[in-house]
Amino acid sequence: QAKHKGKSAYHRFTPDLNQQSRERLKLETQLRKAIEQDELLLYYQPIVETANGQLVGAEALIRWDNPLLGLVAPDKFIPLAEETGLITSIGEWVLHTACRDVKKWHEDTGLKLTIAVNVSPRQFRDVKFIDTVMKALEVNDLAGEYLELEITERLLLDDSIETFEILHKLDAMGVKLSVDDFGTGYSALSYLKSYPFDSLKIDRSFVKDVNTEAEDAALVTAIITMAHSLGLKVIGEGVEDVAQMQFLRAKGCDYAQGYYYNRPVAESDFCNWISENRRAYAT
Ligand code: C2E
Ligand code: MG
Ligand code: MG
Ligand code: MG
Repeated sequence: QAKHKGKSAYHRFTPDLNQQSRERLKLETQLRKAIEQDELLLYYQPIVETANGQLVGAEALIRWDNPLLGLVAPDKFIPLAEETGLITSIGEWVLHTACRDVKKWHEDTGLKLTIAVNVSPRQFRDVKFIDTVMKALEVNDLAGEYLELEITERLLLDDSIETFEILHKLDAMGVKLSVDDFGTGYSALSYLKSYPFDSLKIDRSFVKDVNTEAEDAALVTAIITMAHSLGLKVIGEGVEDVAQMQFLRAKGCDYAQGYYYNRPVAESDFCNWISENRRAYAT
């Protein structure tokens, strides 16, 4: 077809591009079947209280186990799911599965763990989003306080009345709200006083060099101080070694998450790990 549009159009339509879009289409077709074919799963990564090493909850991190592609990381398919709108049904599946699993942990262990679930912008703005959250809580008989929704600053950029209303409705349901990847979204900080957030997750790019780069140390310290004076809790992301953990603890960062404690693991491994009585980490 392109060749009828003349030479330049023909040349722009390179085989590479063609192949790229065909691969995208293939991925999209496979992703559409992922839910019904039971290929999606949630990995769980512990969230720990820095002061005493106590396990307080977990973040649900989606994986796609495709027979042809193997275990696909979210960065490889969540953007496509966003673009195509598939994120609405994927997100619904995530919410239901995460609520079901945390309810089970409550019953099996007696620990009142919180489950953190990532919400992407298109999913958040879907007209049925609030109902979906409500349903996931109801069906699993889970109180809102045990569900924490993670939202990036990117979502807050538009500063719309809808965003404001959705966040306040979720807050009224008792659901916890946190800002994910805090510090990377080029967002004005003023939203922190009008939106009902409970916590900030400091992006791992700041945590990484906290013991070697004075600027990163200053930023992390300032974020913790600011968050606390606004009544927000702080979670350090991407904690990989004991020195980073100790820095965060010394600065009063409430919670931490990262490979230092545990990598994200499948639900059964997460359960085994809790029941092996490793409910607290050495501090
Ligand atoms: P995120 O929400 O910021 O999640 C943290 C990411 O950092 C996870 O990557 C986690 O495996 C990784 N991580 C945790 N600790 C460490 C560490 O110590 N070092 C390093 N280098 N990395 C660490 P993952 O699982 O690949 O997820 C990537 C992103 O995909 C997430 O970033 C989140 O934005 C998105 N995502 C994951 N699951 C879902 C989901 O169910 N729905 C939506 N909408 N997005 C999701
Ligand atoms: Mg997250
Ligand atoms: Mg609240
Ligand atoms: Mg993050």
